[in-house]
Amino acid sequence: MRYPNLFAPLDLGFATLPNRVLMGSMHTGLEDRARDFDKLAAYFAERARGGVGLMVTGGFAPNLEGWLAPFASRLSMPWQVAPHRKVTRAVHAEGGRICLQILHAGRYGYHPLAVAPSKLKSPITPFTPRALSARGVERTIAAFVNCARKAQDAGYDGVEVMGSEGYLINQFLAERTNRREDDWGGTLDKRQRFPVEIVKRMRAAAGRDFIIIYRLSMLDLVDGGQSWDEIVTLAKKIEAAGATLLNTGIGWHEARVPTIVTSVPRAGFAWVTRRMKAEVSIPLVTTNRINMPDVAERILAAGDADMVSMARPLLADPDWVRKARADRAADINTCIACNQACLDHVFENKRASCLVNPRACHETELVIAPASVKKRIAVVGAGPAGLACATTLAERGHAVTLFEQSATIGGQFNMAKRIPGKEEFHETLRYYARRLEQLGVEQRLGTRATASELRDAGFDEVVLATGVTPRAARIPGSERVNVLSYVDVLAGNANVGARVAIIGAGGIGFDVAEFLVEDAPSPSTDVARWTREWGVDTTLGARAGLVKPAPEAPRRRVWLLQRTPGKPGKRLNKTTGWVHRATLAAKRVTMLGGVSYERIDEAGLHIRVGDAAQVLPVDTVVICAGQEPNRALADELAAAGLATHLIGGADVAAELDAKRAIAQGTRLAASL
Ligand code: FAD
Ligand code: NAP
Ligand code: SF4
Repeated sequence: MRYPNLFAPLDLGFATLPNRVLMGSMHTGLEDRARDFDKLAAYFAERARGGVGLMVTGGFAPNLEGWLAPFASRLSMPWQVAPHRKVTRAVHAEGGRICLQILHAGRYGYHPLAVAPSKLKSPITPFTPRALSARGVERTIAAFVNCARKAQDAGYDGVEVMGSEGYLINQFLAERTNRREDDWGGTLDKRQRFPVEIVKRMRAAAGRDFIIIYRLSMLDLVDGGQSWDEIVTLAKKIEAAGATLLNTGIGWHEARVPTIVTSVPRAGFAWVTRRMKAEVSIPLVTTNRINMPDVAERILAAGDADMVSMARPLLADPDWVRKARADRAADINTCIACNQACLDHVFENKRASCLVNPRACHETELVIAPASVKKRIAVVGAGPAGLACATTLAERGHAVTLFEQSATIGGQFNMAKRIPGKEEFHETLRYYARRLEQLGVEQRLGTRATASELRDAGFDEVVLATGVTPRAARIPGSERVNVLSYVDVLAGNANVGARVAIIGAGGIGFDVAEFLVEDAPSPSTDVARWTREWGVDTTLGARAGLVKPAPEAPRRRVWLLQRTPGKPGKRLNKTTGWVHRATLAAKRVTMLGGVSYERIDEAGLHIRVGDAAQVLPVDTVVICAGQEPNRALADELAAAGLATHLIGGADVAAELDAKRAIAQGTRLAASL
């Protein structure tokens, strides 16, 4: 057994979990409407079948005031119980266990009914909450207990009380948000009463054999957050109140330190849980950026925690646990922590899915069934679109030939993986390489497919996944040798000077800027360097774990430019864009919008911002001005009378990302 600690059973006294994997709570959007519960049940059942020890649902509000948003998930009324039985039955039929998360949003509620300990608006929501009266506090505690009882009626094995990430309970605990002077605020003891009463009364109501996980904010990462001593005091009280497991929460949503994005080092916060191990005796769950079995095993073997929580990695691969148990870690479709199809969707009120696994949360709709007619199919281009398509086609039983003009698979992901903080992208390429082998896809690497070859080979279907070509910028002087495309820069075969202007501030412009200012290897591979850069106090001596950030000096002086007025980076992804902007700001990159480009000459790049002309004294200009579809082959094949399917960048280059490329490739393959 390669991961003995990961697969050691965990005895909870009244139940034994088969392994140390907790599927952490993750809102999917399927919780919000009873009519989606069949889909929710299928989603959880697939993960239970995959062998997860214990799962936690997305958050359910215990009352209307606790809603995350109007009409969002809630469990408080008798008629709301029945749909949940679909979920619990489906999970139990697969031998799994599941807890319902109770989440009261407090001042993070995106609606006018929001309440909080004190009338203080959060920096990330537009609604000022109403301060709960003392009776209102009692009613809220009763609502938590009622919700737990309803969860029990619905067949859940337990509940998770959401006490972290800056939601209502966390708001009671911290001076930042609790300015009360009654029995629920003022002294530490009174601030901590709210969660302690919830857990105590919940245990009394639910009986002994019901799992109560308490998600404890172990590191608030906001000014006015809790000190470590306060958190330890609370942990002990929660243990005494009757919690079964303590889960780790890191950072409030309003914190300006990233906690789960891909540039956070793997297991980047396990050291916090380790410190708590000495303080309590109930099992502790650690979390954040744990995505592969060796990482989980290392934490458990070191005794830093008793369980590991993973949410997104189980969206990416429902069979994660089964594969790890069978020592097939190399077969895992690894979560790259991009947030693009999961958290970003949730924040945009769309159903969650996964960039590397578009079936996630669509289990009943995107079905990969054996093909009724087996065909010979050519896929041209081994970027994300072509890889997803070729592997899914082969999975269905088709005979697939994959053409790739370069010597390796991966397309633009080969550039993405070189960006500091995007090291996880290697994993996706490792996964696809493995799948191609296992499924017997014929790989014609180093082969530029031509129309005549494709026509003569007599394929039943031809899929073109030929991607994109970088757009040239039409600026006088752009033919000079010091004007480079991002492709030259990221391939590492061009000389880049000490002062650089980047033309185009989309996702690629930002990535190239990070590539140019960061030293390799990046801080994302080293917890000590990373925490220093972001100002996280690993001694836990500072309140809320915050100290002054100490970013390393930039490697180059960089200007990042766009024509659109306003600050660059506004169109970056919702949950990750701010991290890219903050990273570049810390590296003193000048970001300018509303720029017109006049010319490039020996003095540098001549630009105009509004009425003011200026010369940026740069040695190198890098063009990141977007891309055009590469579909010359489609036109040639059409002229030869051969119908083709276009996917990924070859189909539409605008707003292309790997999420669309992989989803489109998978969906087409499921239909052929
Ligand atoms: P491509 O990846 O361009 O692949 C096309 C493939 O077709 C290439 O390998 C090419 O060699 C091959 N090909 C072309 N013509 C032929 C032919 N005639 N015969 C054989 N082979 C041929 N996206 C995200 O979602 N998230 C990110 O964080 C992200 N970061 C990025 C960072 C960088 C630096 C870059 C450059 C891109 C990033 N992207 C990101 C974008 C993402 O990589 C692309 O959206 C994705 O690769 C597009 O996939 P595709 O398969 O359509 O095309
Ligand atoms: P992009 O996001 O479309 O950005 C292109 C940039 O070039 C814009 O800043 C645009 O701004 C500028 N531009 C466009 N035409 C120009 C021209 N003719 N001359 C000068 N400037 C021009 O494209 P991208 O950065 O190449 O990224 C491609 C795709 O990869 C994106 O759609 C993105 O989704 C994906 N990607 C995602 C991530 C991620 O982290 N999620 C990271 C990298 C890439 P102005 O028009 O204002 O000048
Ligand atoms: Fe992980 Fe990205 Fe998938 Fe979310 S979308 S589960 S972060 S790979």
